[in-house]
Amino acid sequence: MDATRYKIALVDDNLATLNQGKSLLQDTYKVYTMQAAATLFENLEKDIPDLILLDIEMPGMNGYETLAKLKDDPRYKDIPVIFLTGNADEESERRGLSLGVSDYITKHFSPGILKLRIQNQIRLIEQINTVQYEIMKYKLVSEAIDAALWDMNVLVDDPASPENQITWSQELRHMIGFTDENDFPNTIEAFAARFHPNDRDMAFAAFAAHFNDRSGKTPYNIQYRLKHKNGEYRYFDGFGTTLRNNKGIPLRVSGAVRDITDLKQMQKKIADANERVNLMLDSTPLCCQLWGRDFKTIDCNEAAVKLYGFKSKQEYTERFHECSPKYQSDGQLSAEKAIMLVKKAFDEGECTFEWMHQIPATGEPMLAEISLVRVKYLDDYVVAGYTRDLREHNKMMERIHEEEERLQLMLDTMPMACRLFGQNYEFIDCNQQALDMVGVTSKEEYQKKSNDIIPEFQLCGRKSQELKKEYLDTAFEKGYLRFEWLYVLPDGEKLPCEITLVRVMHKGEYIIAGYIRDLREQKAILEEMRKAEIAEEGSKAKTRFLANMSHEMRTPLNVVVGLTDLMLEEDSLAPSLEKNLNKIGTAGTSLLGLINDILDISKIEAGKLEITPVNYEVPSLINDIITLNLIRIEDKPIKFQLDIKENLLYRLYGDDLRIKQIINNLLSNAFKYTERGAVSLSLTTERQDNENVWMEIIVSDTGIGMSADDLQKIFKDYSQVSASTSRKIEGTGLGLAITKSLIEMMNGEISVESELGKGSVFRARLQQKSRDHTTIGPMVMENIKNFRYSKTIDRKKLVRADLSFAKVLVVTMCSPILI
Ligand code: ADP
Repeated sequence: MDATRYKIALVDDNLATLNQGKSLLQDTYKVYTMQAAATLFENLEKDIPDLILLDIEMPGMNGYETLAKLKDDPRYKDIPVIFLTGNADEESERRGLSLGVSDYITKHFSPGILKLRIQNQIRLIEQINTVQYEIMKYKLVSEAIDAALWDMNVLVDDPASPENQITWSQELRHMIGFTDENDFPNTIEAFAARFHPNDRDMAFAAFAAHFNDRSGKTPYNIQYRLKHKNGEYRYFDGFGTTLRNNKGIPLRVSGAVRDITDLKQMQKKIADANERVNLMLDSTPLCCQLWGRDFKTIDCNEAAVKLYGFKSKQEYTERFHECSPKYQSDGQLSAEKAIMLVKKAFDEGECTFEWMHQIPATGEPMLAEISLVRVKYLDDYVVAGYTRDLREHNKMMERIHEEEERLQLMLDTMPMACRLFGQNYEFIDCNQQALDMVGVTSKEEYQKKSNDIIPEFQLCGRKSQELKKEYLDTAFEKGYLRFEWLYVLPDGEKLPCEITLVRVMHKGEYIIAGYIRDLREQKAILEEMRKAEIAEEGSKAKTRFLANMSHEMRTPLNVVVGLTDLMLEEDSLAPSLEKNLNKIGTAGTSLLGLINDILDISKIEAGKLEITPVNYEVPSLINDIITLNLIRIEDKPIKFQLDIKENLLYRLYGDDLRIKQIINNLLSNAFKYTERGAVSLSLTTERQDNENVWMEIIVSDTGIGMSADDLQKIFKDYSQVSASTSRKIEGTGLGLAITKSLIEMMNGEISVESELGKGSVFRARLQQKSRDHTTIGPMVMENIKNFRYSKTIDRKKLVRADLSFAKVLVVTMCSPILI
């Protein structure tokens, strides 16, 4: 014990006592001697001793009064005082002790005893100091850990008993908003009332478990919420420890409470932030992973787990080495290259590269782009890797590329030159056609030479370059412009074009797309059309002229033929005159037929031939036909046969003149091209419905016939069958063409069967109308049965008979001429 640091004040009016005491104690303590209490109080102002030795009987203030004054002053009340007195009576000692004196020593003490008693007193002081020091330490610690203390003096062996003396520290009260014992008394109830309802039972149970475990092994350290005076719940960390006797029964429990609300909030914030980061990481399609300096995978996100087809992050970490083929595309070992790249990222901070991966389960190769970035992690660095699967990207790029190629193909193969211009009239791009137009192979050349094909002036007389800018400006302003333009190609050929300019948006700016349409072909077609129009006009004029002329020609010719006939009727004509008149008649009639044909064909060409329907009688029609055609037999050995049936309708409605013309044409050809044998005409009618009737005309002969080739042509205009020596027969080739047209105008059709040298059969069918069901009947039939022409017929009589009995059935009237 280093006692010299202890100061003792010795107060006695007896100088000898003072000296004796001083000499006895000064080796061990610092001793101050004073002869009166007043001096003591003076000195106390300057320095406080650890112990006061005080005499009782003194002049002025005696020992009792001094002691009382000391105990009254809070500054001095804790200084231990020992009475050193001559009063050996019990009363004096009792009085001193009751005033709070620490010891009572009577004079004439043995020096040893005095020393020992002082020593005891000093030891006590030391103990008090130690305890105070411990308390101070305790406070310091509690302040340092920001905890508030409580203490329970266990009087009843029951953790919840209100009889146990509990003391809450002021800090604890302050923590939950209270001030002192008045608003927060030292009771368990006061504390229990502050618990969050959900935590109270748990906290008491934990405390009871700790309290009741005699072994002292159950710790008490829990977290709970307490309600602050302001109503807010705060989080606390509570812990305690118990002093037990040798049987384990609790004697005293001490504990601390720490407000961890801020910590909790911080922890929650960190947990939330962590969760958010994890969520973000795990929901990104980008694969992220962390590598340490040992090139081992530390962690990865869900996308990485999925990308390689793993089930968990752990599997990823364990099997990551299987995710690359043995060699990379440059021939380097994947394992070596990976280490090299991760090291590079550690050294340089970052690096990006393409990496060939493979999916462990399938072995499917997967090209990826990997970015490695060095990041600080705890006290060191790690490398974060971001892997982007390039398969989709590459596929998309391929698709884009294909699309571009297709578009380029379309652009280059479209039959139009196409170019793009920027805002300063500058060339941006063009297609193949544009290159071809200028006669260059590259776009660079095009840029240089495209102006060469623009002539100085346009057709309107304006300067081309000026006009070009004007047009582009208008297109920029209005969005669209179409105009004609002239180029002169490198070979000097003029190229008239139609140019369409369209304003389009490209990379956020307006540009102009120009499409050039070559008008050469169109212009040529227009020219052709113009010529054709002129030609058609000419042909129409010709047709009109022909129609007029043939009409005008018929009139005088009719006079010639008529007069010739009249003259032939004269009796006793000189034979030579009769012969000549006959020739004139024949030539005239033939010419008239020709003119009629020309008139008809020109009418057909001009679309003016019309069908004029009237009511007519079929026997009369037959009569006229036979009368006209019998003469065509001339003196050839030909039988003419008329083939009709009783059920032939009597009355029809149609253009009988045109029907006669049709049948006459067919019969005249039959007679013309037949030298011997027979010509026959068959006529039938067949009712189509109550109004319409099909009339069928069949003309057959045993004449020269036609080849298959000839048959193709005969219904065409002006076509005579190819001239062979056997066909030296006059004709125009108009007859059948007219016939066909007429039949078609009557909704009909005509066909022919023929064989060279054997004869021909023409079949025609046309439509007539009739509501009359009368047929020609047996009488008429009888008369025309076996209708035959006699060689001996007198032409004169026949002609006369024809003229005079017009519309009368010749079969009946001229029966003598029939065989
Ligand atoms: P053409 O006035 O020349 O007779 P058509 O148009 O009536 O003109 O006849 C055209 C051609 O068809 C004739 O030139 C002839 O060669 C051939 N032809 C027409 N009918 C017959 C027939 N019954 N027998 C043989 N050839 C015929």
